[in-house]
Amino acid sequence: MPYGYHGKILRVDLSSGNIEVETQPESFYRTYMGGGAMGTYYLLREVKKGADPLGPENLLAVFPSVVTGATIAGQSRINVNAKSPMSGAIGDSQAGGFFPAEFKFAGFDGVIFRGQSKKWVYLSIIDGKAELHNASHLTGKLTGEVDSLLKQEIGGEKAQVMQIGPAAEKGVRFSGIVNMANRLNGRTGMGLVMASKKLKAIVVRGHGKPKIADPKALADLNKIGAQWIPTNPNVESVGRLGTASVVLPQNTFGTLPTHNYNEGQFVRAESISGEKMAATILKTRDTCYACTVRCKRVVEIKEGKYPFDPIYGGPEYETIGTFGSYCGIDDLAVVSMAHQICDMHGVDTISCGATIAFAMECYERGIITKEETGGIDLRFGNGDAMLEVLTQIVTKSGKLGVILAEGSARAAMIWGKGADECLITCKNEEVPAHMPQAKRSLALIYAVNPFGADHQSSEHDWMYEKGIASELYLGRLATMGLTEPQEPMSLGEEKVKFAYLSQAFYSMMDSLDLCQFVYGPAWCLFGPVETVSMIKAVTGWDVTIEELIQVGIRRINLMRTFNAREGFTRKDDTLPKKFFKPLGGTGPTSGIAVGKEEFEAALNMYYGLHGWTNKGVPTPDALKKSGIDWAAEYLPA
Ligand code: SF4
Repeated sequence: MPYGYHGKILRVDLSSGNIEVETQPESFYRTYMGGGAMGTYYLLREVKKGADPLGPENLLAVFPSVVTGATIAGQSRINVNAKSPMSGAIGDSQAGGFFPAEFKFAGFDGVIFRGQSKKWVYLSIIDGKAELHNASHLTGKLTGEVDSLLKQEIGGEKAQVMQIGPAAEKGVRFSGIVNMANRLNGRTGMGLVMASKKLKAIVVRGHGKPKIADPKALADLNKIGAQWIPTNPNVESVGRLGTASVVLPQNTFGTLPTHNYNEGQFVRAESISGEKMAATILKTRDTCYACTVRCKRVVEIKEGKYPFDPIYGGPEYETIGTFGSYCGIDDLAVVSMAHQICDMHGVDTISCGATIAFAMECYERGIITKEETGGIDLRFGNGDAMLEVLTQIVTKSGKLGVILAEGSARAAMIWGKGADECLITCKNEEVPAHMPQAKRSLALIYAVNPFGADHQSSEHDWMYEKGIASELYLGRLATMGLTEPQEPMSLGEEKVKFAYLSQAFYSMMDSLDLCQFVYGPAWCLFGPVETVSMIKAVTGWDVTIEELIQVGIRRINLMRTFNAREGFTRKDDTLPKKFFKPLGGTGPTSGIAVGKEEFEAALNMYYGLHGWTNKGVPTPDALKKSGIDWAAEYLPA
């Protein structure tokens, strides 16, 4: 019997209704470990070049990892992969909560869906038994309602539900997959793929906790982690104030994207801060399975124009950034209402908020008028207009809602007239609320990341910059061979190495489905040394930091090979035009921009570190070094 996993993966063919169990050897688990590496392994092998992301031939791969469900902080996360309907490239998204651990307890290490059902169905996995059920009675209902109905119908109160909301049923492109009615696999349109398969939900319940190799070592590490929380300022504040704790520091540094990324400071940032939330609408803190950091927020608003039901949790920093400062909105109740609408209907708050901010800029610049908005005065700062447009998007109604439900990149093509100048997308995916103008290695990673701009795919520059990074963080980075902290806003050779190695580490974490506030190369609760100890304690494998970095590089190579086969090359590894123009506004980042030459040089160095061609395509040699020489047959001729 293996430690940490079951050795069983479910295969569900939604066209035929056939369910099978696949087994894989230990070497497979040690090579890929779970999450995005395992998901992409199947996508690359089984989804043919040019497949329609919304057709039966696309796979939807749902994977926790070999450590999910162990009793320690930061392991209860789950990854979804499919070919993305937003980009046509690989899609990838993670979420936390109690669903991921419960999925493991239900008896499997992952589930892969193929085909398309004729009618709406949901899958239950209860103590090792998987069954498909009719879901026609659940369509059109809000996520909170479906969560509750499915618990009554099957599995009981302790069952966990992962579902698509009504927005995905209607075809909103940036639909996500929701668990607990407030945790989202939000990015890259994975909810729309699930809807295309007419799969409404997955319900899990079980008692089959995988065996742990060294329970005492795991318990000791968990105890140490709880003791370290108060001594690590970043982790302490993310627990105390949630991810919204970074609103004010970002504003001070001039990196709080404001007015659709035209400025880096929002004059009313205080009004949408974590401190403001704690002092006004916070009801309680929430957590994911076994996590002592407890960063999740639950807010409640009982009266007024914007009531908030606590079952939908509370807004994260990214949601506050996109619906708040991006849109110039300074009312936390309005931002919370936007969060609630997104969770109820099941859409990604980053893509949705950023798409509305894009439309606001188009309106302010006269690219669209009240003719296109249906009479809505879509100025920056108009909260009610923002909520009206948001409601149109999630219900795919109204002239504006139907267009914006396709995301900003497609809307820009429809509107023309220079609307693309207002875009903040990479590979058609809206950019999160961390400004690469001031974090230059992030500019590189936004561009090269296989599934579009992502703020959680590498360590941010400040952790490796002189005068900013603490001794603890620099000491941790040194264990990965990063020993020369750099000047702020640099993007030279050493920064590119930092980007490459820290992306590999984060990529490993997205294969092991680890929370990036708990494990990481620098600022989190546990650094690389403790990450190794945790994986050893759970699996019994004698892993090293180097082996873990190779898992991350392997995932990136698999994803880039998938993309290369679809025709993605260097031309797609680029940034929004806006990032190369000086920022407006006031504060420390006013007037700065990413330099084009510096960026192109960094791309060359990055490709070189991977051993790829100068077009950004993996070579057979690079795949061989990564232990996946089999993948070379999928490279373009
Ligand atoms: S730090 Fe927050 S998001 Fe991460 S596992 Fe803990 S509660 Fe969940």
